[in-house]
Amino acid sequence: MGLEKNDLIKRAAEDLKKAKHAIALTGAGISTESGIPDFRGPFGIWTTDHGAERRAYQTYEKFLEDPRRYWEERLNAPSLLGDLEKAEPNPSHTALVELEKMGILKYLITQNIDGLHEKAGSRNLIEYHGSYFKLRCVKCGSRSGIKEIDLEKLRIEEKLPPLCRCGGVIKSDVVHFGEPIPIDAARRSQEEAWRCDLMLICGTSAVVYPFAQLPRLAKKHLVEKETKTESGLYLVKQVPAATIIEVNAEPTPLTEAGISDYLIRGKTGEVLPGIVQEIKGIQR
Ligand code: NAD
Repeated sequence: MGLEKNDLIKRAAEDLKKAKHAIALTGAGISTESGIPDFRGPFGIWTTDHGAERRAYQTYEKFLEDPRRYWEERLNAPSLLGDLEKAEPNPSHTALVELEKMGILKYLITQNIDGLHEKAGSRNLIEYHGSYFKLRCVKCGSRSGIKEIDLEKLRIEEKLPPLCRCGGVIKSDVVHFGEPIPIDAARRSQEEAWRCDLMLICGTSAVVYPFAQLPRLAKKHLVEKETKTESGLYLVKQVPAATIIEVNAEPTPLTEAGISDYLIRGKTGEVLPGIVQEIKGIQR
């Protein structure tokens, strides 16, 4: 690790320690060290197979046109991300759990659908794009575990799509491209983005909207800060309420547009545990 990276890890530890309402945002990059490919990293699914991107954009349309066919295809095709049942959390997920247990991290908003934050033990969690392991009724919005409905039996009995008690059609909880974000997740995330005084953004290319709007929303929240000038006069300035930190393998549009205050360039599986170690050092 270069000196600059170590300095930034120390800076992030100090900023987190001072924060009163820190939240984290995560993306596919946090799970690559668990063996789950991302979409847009150098070895991402879309970087290597452009057809996969086109197909992904058709999934929600298929569901709307013909929910039975959507389910039949889903049950026959393996997940694009591999065997998610076997995936295990990595040190990035564990570090975020530690920050929550320390009382520093108040909320975690993830774009990931792999269930690894929950498996690692994160409690205050918003799965913004849903979960592969859950189902959701499109009418009443209620969710259930994927194993609570015997989808295979419904397929054999030709009773797909599954129906909710309210009569609505049940789809995977995963939010497909073009599908609106469920209102509960959207509203809660906006509230957290507005409320936070520190946002730690980990492993996302920050190009998928409306998720990528959350750091921009945080940046728009200005508070008044009193500063003393050289002449001894006090000046009231409007400054952003939140410090925004990125941890990513490469710069993103947030880095380039100056939305983030600084980028710690590296693997989340090294940087996040490094920050936790630093905080433990400060507390000692
Ligand atoms: P993305 O693929 O667009 O971007 C991932 C980013 O993480 C890239 O900038 C990449 O350079 C960086 N990265 C990869 N490995 C890293 C590591 N070890 N440490 C630090 N940075 C690393 O992912 P996204 O921004 O989350 O958007 C993709 C969309 O696809 C999301 O909506 C998400 O729901 C979905 N997705 C989810 C999973 C998952 O659940 N694990 C996997 C792939 C895609």
